[in-house]
Amino acid sequence: MVAHVLGYPRIGKKRELKKAVEKYWRGETTRDELETVAKTLRAENWKLQKEMGMTHIPSNDFSYYDQMLDMTCTVGSVPPRYDFTGDEVDQDTYFNMARGGKGEKTAMEMTKWFDTNYHYIVPEFEKNQPFKLTSNKPVNEFNEAKELGITTRPVIIGPLSYLLLGKNKYEGGDVLDHLDSLLPVYNELLKNLETAGAKWVQIDEPCLVTDLSDPIRDAYKKAYATIREKNPNLKLFMTTYFEGITGEAPWICNLPINALHFDLLRAPEQLDTLLDNWNGSMIYSLGVVNGRNIWKTNLEKAWETLEKAQNKLGAENIWASASCSLLHSPYDLEIETELNPQVKSWMAFAKQKLWELNALNTALTRGGKKSIKAELEEYNKIFTDRKNAETTFRKDVREKTSRTGGEWSSRKSPHDIRQVVQKDLLKLPIFPTTTIGSFPQTKEIRKWRADFKAGRMDEKTYNNHLKEATANCIKEQEDLGLDVLVHGEFERNDMVEYFGEQLDGFIFSKFGWVQSYGSRCVKPPIIYGDIRRPNPMTVEWIKYASTLTKKWVKGMLTGPVTILQWSFYRDDVSMEEVCRQIAWAIRDEVHDLETAGIKIIQIDEAAFREGLPIKREKWENYLNWAVESFKISSTGVEDSTQIHTHMCYSEFNDIIDSISKMDADVISIESSRSQMEILDALADYKYPNQIGPGIYDIHSPRVPAKEGMTELMGQALKYVGPEKLWINPDCGLKTRTWDEIRPSLHHMVETAHEIRRRL
Ligand code: GLN
Ligand code: ZN
Repeated sequence: MVAHVLGYPRIGKKRELKKAVEKYWRGETTRDELETVAKTLRAENWKLQKEMGMTHIPSNDFSYYDQMLDMTCTVGSVPPRYDFTGDEVDQDTYFNMARGGKGEKTAMEMTKWFDTNYHYIVPEFEKNQPFKLTSNKPVNEFNEAKELGITTRPVIIGPLSYLLLGKNKYEGGDVLDHLDSLLPVYNELLKNLETAGAKWVQIDEPCLVTDLSDPIRDAYKKAYATIREKNPNLKLFMTTYFEGITGEAPWICNLPINALHFDLLRAPEQLDTLLDNWNGSMIYSLGVVNGRNIWKTNLEKAWETLEKAQNKLGAENIWASASCSLLHSPYDLEIETELNPQVKSWMAFAKQKLWELNALNTALTRGGKKSIKAELEEYNKIFTDRKNAETTFRKDVREKTSRTGGEWSSRKSPHDIRQVVQKDLLKLPIFPTTTIGSFPQTKEIRKWRADFKAGRMDEKTYNNHLKEATANCIKEQEDLGLDVLVHGEFERNDMVEYFGEQLDGFIFSKFGWVQSYGSRCVKPPIIYGDIRRPNPMTVEWIKYASTLTKKWVKGMLTGPVTILQWSFYRDDVSMEEVCRQIAWAIRDEVHDLETAGIKIIQIDEAAFREGLPIKREKWENYLNWAVESFKISSTGVEDSTQIHTHMCYSEFNDIIDSISKMDADVISIESSRSQMEILDALADYKYPNQIGPGIYDIHSPRVPAKEGMTELMGQALKYVGPEKLWINPDCGLKTRTWDEIRPSLHHMVETAHEIRRRL
């Protein structure tokens, strides 16, 4: 048997690559110095995997920014605006593509990698896009490992996934139109790898788990027939991950390749179909260790899965692996010295996952479960410990979450009645103006927080500073003439972490970083137990802010779906249950805000859409519990309390029905960049509640002119009645400066005046 992973995290145990790359960007190091850091990290990863008993070790899973961008540079589809002409894409062109360069060299688009929090750089194709091999990175890294005595398995993104994840920059045509011109470059690359000594090449084709069409299936068959024909001696290992291929197994399992990888964590149900469709010679790599979470694997269960497959295919045709690349796991649990020891004993980061794979491999090759029964039992003890822990099953929490039925998830009256009651109470002008919540997190604020966290500033001083910032923010908003004010969120480092820190059931690591995009990493909170709210979390801040003004101050919360999506969640209860537990905690917070006299409460669901499953057949189930959780959190209020929600995107067309079912009184969304086009969908659907289509693109430092914003509101009015429209930016203002937002918000308020006059 073989134990192996599809890829290893590359940012460095303590984010060494991040730091080196950012230094290079600031011009503080040379290319050579950067390359030295990268080389050290690659060597560490290879050696570690070897030491940990991995039989196949990937290379080219390293990247300075992103593996899709690397592929773009490898096949030479560098967009013309970067003026690239040479034979090999240079480092500066590479970073310009990722981050934007001078003048016309704007950055390439970035988007989420399937349903992970990783973001990739989207390939762009011109009409008749030429391709050419313009990077030796895969070969160089193979050679680099070879010099260290390790024969690696180079990893590349497969040609179909590469195209399908890209975009044509011209009207008409399909990304698959480029396949014929792309394939020769892949074949040249594969030839070079073989010449360098590679026996196996790993070709990632994650698009195989998406909903496929006939043209896509045909393209796959054609492409791999060609690749096989041109590379008859190279062993091809194709990977799928993040979902299953059940319905497609008959043809995928018969592609002319040597090995296939499957994710048995996300889609355990596919195993039987895969075994039924075994073609007699294909090697199956089975992802039995979760590559995307931080929990120990139940080795007995994993063992059973592997054994079942082994009985059918024979040991020589089974590889044990993690479900997907470990890119999505943090590095090493051992360096976490401050974690609660009990919870820590339940956890496994990337390095520990290698240990598990090695253990499974040794166990299976040693023959029979009996031989390692004692070890398995010992390891699996933690599952009993976890199950019995008082933190993972709290009766009071479960009692709450077992309540079902309309009374816990619907408002007292429908929106049209509530709207009247709220109008009477709030007495807001038509086209009320507001913001999404956060105001600039200045250097000063970040320094206070850092000082406070490091113990250099006491709590009282810290809170006084935050109060000052809040008071100042309220004053600024009054001066600007906004209608519904916010407190500014200065006390929050992050919209999820802030709540996680105050809820039972969450824990925080010190080095549990995972790459989000480029040099950016996130350290998700860890949900390990049942969630409850020991104390109010935001009430004091909102109450304080509302004492400073006669205007309404909006309470600001993060919604259950978003808190769940942006955390590492436990794998011993369903996502749905975890989400419901958070929802109940938020419901209690909403109740306390209401009791404290807060009449407008916003519950942000920034990650609502990104939680959508990859396969459409699984959407309905997700949407049902996601909507229900939002409603549990938001409906325990009087008709007169106005619930807002915010989502920082605008692709609602597919899920508009669910958005509507959330029944928020007001929803603010992103729309300035799409020229309000998205309101089309809302209007078609006759979205019944109030909407604040963002008219100020906060992602840009540009100060929008009043005329532009008035024009956008004019557009919006074509779709939505005036009594339903709010005026607000696209998202929070946290990343902007006061100098940028002051004039921008001023123009926004003037826009409101202007359209009120016109009415
Ligand atoms: N209330 C949050 C803020 O204003 C919302 C952020 C978000 O949607 N990502 O920062
Ligand atoms: Zn947003």
